[in-house]
Amino acid sequence: MAIVIEKGVKGKVCSTCDIWKPLTEFPEDPTHGPLQGHRHCRCKECHRIKARERRQAKNSKTK
Ligand SMILES: [Zn+2]
Repeated sequence: MAIVIEKGVKGKVCSTCDIWKPLTEFPEDPTHGPLQGHRHCRCKECHRIKARERRQAKNSKTK
């Protein structure tokens, strides 16, 4: 997802929640080029949710 400028603020639409957020709401990732603003395609909020899901999945496996 490329950078979208809204009201003079650079941001992107999160690939997971489909909500436009400013670039600062996306974790930095140097592997993403300048078109992505060197940021992840998923916002910090969705990263947190994903991390939680991963942790829960791991917990349910260990018995
Ligand atoms: Zn998101």
